[in-house]
Amino acid sequence: MSCKPLNYYLHYDVDLEERTFSGKEVIKLQILNPVKEIRLDSIGLEVQECHFESVDLKIAAFQVDEQEGAFVVHLEEELDNGEYDLFIRFTGKLTDSLAGFYTSKYEVDGVEKVFATTQFEAADARRAFPCFDAPEHKATFDVSFSVASNLSVVSNTLPFDVIEFGEKKTYYFERTPKMSTYLLYFGVGEFEFLEDRYKNIRLRVVTTPGKRDYGKPALEFAKKFLQYFEEYFDYPYILPKLDLIAVPDFGAGAMENWGAITFRENMLLVYPGKTSQATIVRIAEYIAHELAHQWFGNLVTMKWWDNLWLNESFATFMAFKAINYFYPEWDVWSDYLISEVFGGMDLDSLSSSHPIKMPVKSIADIDEAFDAIAYNKGGSVLRMLERYIGDDNFRDGLRRYIRTYEYANTIETDLWKELETASDKPVVTVMKTFVEQIGFPVVRCTLHSKELHLEQRRFLLSGVQDDESMWSIPMVIQKDDKEERLLFDSRKAHLPAGEFVMLNKEYTGFYITDYPNEIRSVFTEQWSSLGNKERLGIIHDLNMLTFSTSLPLADFIAFCSAVGHEESDTVVLEYLLSRLYQIWLLMPKHEDLLKLVSELAKTSLAITGMEPEQEELPSAEILRSLAIKILFKLDDADIQKFVLDAFERFNTDEASLAAGIRAVIFAGSVWFNDGIHQKMKERYATTDSLDDKIKILRALCYVRNDSLIHDTLVLCLDGTIRFSNLPYILAAMADNEHAQRILLDWLMDNWDELKNQGGGMGGMILQRAFQYCIPSCGVGRREEIKAYFAQKDLTGQEKTFAQSLEELEINERFVEVNRQ
Ligand SMILES: [Zn+2]
Repeated sequence: MSCKPLNYYLHYDVDLEERTFSGKEVIKLQILNPVKEIRLDSIGLEVQECHFESVDLKIAAFQVDEQEGAFVVHLEEELDNGEYDLFIRFTGKLTDSLAGFYTSKYEVDGVEKVFATTQFEAADARRAFPCFDAPEHKATFDVSFSVASNLSVVSNTLPFDVIEFGEKKTYYFERTPKMSTYLLYFGVGEFEFLEDRYKNIRLRVVTTPGKRDYGKPALEFAKKFLQYFEEYFDYPYILPKLDLIAVPDFGAGAMENWGAITFRENMLLVYPGKTSQATIVRIAEYIAHELAHQWFGNLVTMKWWDNLWLNESFATFMAFKAINYFYPEWDVWSDYLISEVFGGMDLDSLSSSHPIKMPVKSIADIDEAFDAIAYNKGGSVLRMLERYIGDDNFRDGLRRYIRTYEYANTIETDLWKELETASDKPVVTVMKTFVEQIGFPVVRCTLHSKELHLEQRRFLLSGVQDDESMWSIPMVIQKDDKEERLLFDSRKAHLPAGEFVMLNKEYTGFYITDYPNEIRSVFTEQWSSLGNKERLGIIHDLNMLTFSTSLPLADFIAFCSAVGHEESDTVVLEYLLSRLYQIWLLMPKHEDLLKLVSELAKTSLAITGMEPEQEELPSAEILRSLAIKILFKLDDADIQKFVLDAFERFNTDEASLAAGIRAVIFAGSVWFNDGIHQKMKERYATTDSLDDKIKILRALCYVRNDSLIHDTLVLCLDGTIRFSNLPYILAAMADNEHAQRILLDWLMDNWDELKNQGGGMGGMILQRAFQYCIPSCGVGRREEIKAYFAQKDLTGQEKTFAQSLEELEINERFVEVNRQ
């Protein structure tokens, strides 16, 4: 490194009408080794002026190199070590590409308006100003904005002055802490604010006009979680303010900009009577996740994107800790098991997975690093580690880590060392095997008279044998009444057996278990006496073994039938039923499966009741909706009547339809009555709640009539649907067996247009397109898909494409092997 930024003065003049901005910046640079050229990152900007301030240094030339994404300053003479102020004047356009400095649309009384907002992670600050755009180039920022006087400006800090002059006003913001460029935030628009306080910190929800009151629950969550993290990390939140900003057009779910967190609007605002309990839990999770980043990520930052997981896995894990602390009744650790642990394993059981620490060479690779490995597997491994070293040691290690590296950058070993010091356990050895190595183990367990033999191997859904990989697995084993611990770090191990043995107690370990039949039948017999995480774990592991074809589908169905009728926990039942449903989608004509799915859907409704109850668990809400969906897909006459009656009542009295059942009633009505498709489209145009709009979009996908399927897909490209909402449509369409073939055709026919609408930057959205459409809709069409996309430029989506194709191959093999 020959030079680094210390501070940026940034002034913007934004013209929302023209969708342009002009900026001036002064970068205080520290030269560490003499240089004759300075290279900054810059994309899509024009530079009009560049000079050094207050010293007589001549710039020979400066130029924007659009090809390289750089702004290059050539000096007449070598620049000696020291500090210099580099002035740059530049202009740029507000795009609608969801990256850099862009505009988001909203409507007021039928009139379309826009506001400007930023999304800089991972490498898009360079679209808003020439800068050193890498996480390790931390600097402070002094930001000011001149805008039309009807507009407000939000940034990371509080304004220390706002000066009105004629029809314009200028905001001057306090200096930010020393931080990475990707955490900077600017928002310019006609905002509304809902304000509250936590200690001396000013908390606000920022929305477009007319929506601020829906931010109340978010403020309550924010207050609780701030308090939790301040205590847990023993380190205060350091800014005097925190804004939670609702953005209608947003590529990700939320973004942790320091002090100015942005959210997809439906992941922040709660509409009474319309937002379901499950969505409220999701909102809490998003808020807790982004707040955890204020320490993990913002205060202490990974050195480079190859360690992105240091940010994401911690935020994921810490979010659940915080939620569980305040809302133990939500049982979020069971959700964690399903979404994070099992979700991480889904991807990591593919040959095309990657290690948690993943090489990121160019900025085109960065988007793909934000995946289930960084978030879900990373978070699961932390949960395993916490259990292994103990809660207090884990917390103490984190506190030391935060103190030691505040305002600095780290690599993974910095963290291991602190945790190892705090716990006196071989953290580095264990974590190396899970973080640097691709995949995870299956532990095969066999009984030999009084002995239990264990053997570990890499688990691959493709069934390919890997004889190299080995892990140091911290195991917690339940043997009769006792809990035993073992660090399993060899290929094989022998243990004395007991009457009752269960590996992976509470499923804290990141591995699956393959038990012999005699142990499996003990589990079936004692099913209701096992803990719910153990029951989830057993179902999960058997399901994985079934997909790898080492367990016949008939055995899995028999097992699910035996335990499913015994089950009354809504989380477990929902998980079990959803696994069977996924298989059914691949094999809709499998008779035993059909019979079991239908029976369990009815059992589920007997447990949850048809109508949501006050204060019920989110899992009851999700289970009810899944069961109703299955039964409407089976054209069950009672469900048909229930759905259509509910929809008719809703038409005259909206409040008659509870939030938790709204989505499935919308979808079911469209399924049974083509005429309702049109009504739903009209409703889409008139409702003001994004949450409701998404329910409607999803409902529009549950049609059986080809022309209506096309009709829904047209909305994706004609401007009716926001590009950022496309994944909702794709996921729901792929869930409709009548639409799968058309959806895949449509995706291929319109790939170029979709890429075009994403402005080349809709990376995450296009990744979802592969994930949702290829594995389920592509069965029997693998060669065709391969050939088609071989001609396309998949930069930034190559990994996701390869993974989706491998998943498809696994599904095809599964269907072939288990065909009746
Ligand atoms: Zn995050």
